[in-house]
Amino acid sequence: MGKGYCVGVDLGGTNIKAGLLDDQARILCSFSVPTEVDKGNEVVVNNIVGAAERAIREAGVPRDEVVGIGIGSPGPLSHRQGMIINPGNLPSLKNTPIRRIMTERTGIRCTLENDANAAAWGEYWAGAGKGVTDLVMFTLGTGVGGGAIVNGRLIRGYFENGAELGHIIVNPGGRRCSCGQLGCVEAYSSAYFLARHAEDLIKAGQPSVLKQRMDAGQMLMAEHIVEAAKAGDEVANKVWHDACYYLAVATVTMQHVTNPERVVMAGGLIAAGDFLLEPIRRHFRELTWELLDDFPDIRFATLGNDAGFIGAAGCAWAAHETGDW
Ligand SMILES: [Zn+2]
Repeated sequence: MGKGYCVGVDLGGTNIKAGLLDDQARILCSFSVPTEVDKGNEVVVNNIVGAAERAIREAGVPRDEVVGIGIGSPGPLSHRQGMIINPGNLPSLKNTPIRRIMTERTGIRCTLENDANAAAWGEYWAGAGKGVTDLVMFTLGTGVGGGAIVNGRLIRGYFENGAELGHIIVNPGGRRCSCGQLGCVEAYSSAYFLARHAEDLIKAGQPSVLKQRMDAGQMLMAEHIVEAAKAGDEVANKVWHDACYYLAVATVTMQHVTNPERVVMAGGLIAAGDFLLEPIRRHFRELTWELLDDFPDIRFATLGNDAGFIGAAGCAWAAHETGDW
């Protein structure tokens, strides 16, 4: 018999993923429902509250043993205020005090966490970071997200924008990032931007097998770059090298900032397997100092797309234990 249960809700622009977990991170139920973001604030809020209620109902556990509900949401948001502020892909949730609403409507305490932080917490609690106290995670998707856990606590920072790992500048004056800065790791190592990098080189006249796709009006995707790089295409190799190299630069930076025992790579790009991991590890060793050899173990995440709701439930557990909702 556990100490109780927590609900995890991972709020996305298309779907809400939810589940109920016990204190050992065992999943009793999980499912996905449409967010219906275009139907306005009331419908989306009802869908979020409804997903939490459904998780409790489907798991069939006594309601009074559910100690918390964790919500992972795209930012910007305020964990401290429990408020979703203005996420780009969820415009109907602008300025929604979701923590208060959830607690009022369910009678269960609620915590709100940035979705990248929640996913990092998921890996820390139940995945590739299990058993360590200090973890850094990079999520390599459309953008580069991330989270950092130091001595068992998530870094949020005073302005609550801490651990925005994708915007670590790895090449000052370099390629422009979605955030407006020049030379962020996201501008080189996200699935979206590494494909744009290849397009720019090809448009500038560099020969590549990928040009056929562009001439046919197709948008280059990260998997096309990986495939071409493996086949020896020079442009694809340059772009892939930069993606891995700059991730290694960002990892060295984080090593010196939070000194993690483990660095976890997550997100769609990890489908590239050793083709991604091996160069990151190699560049990391080339770039890092020689003073000491206590280096973090760099490895892949293990929870996939479930990290979000698992981590959200884990955040509720942590809130229950620390009293920091
Ligand atoms: Zn940036």
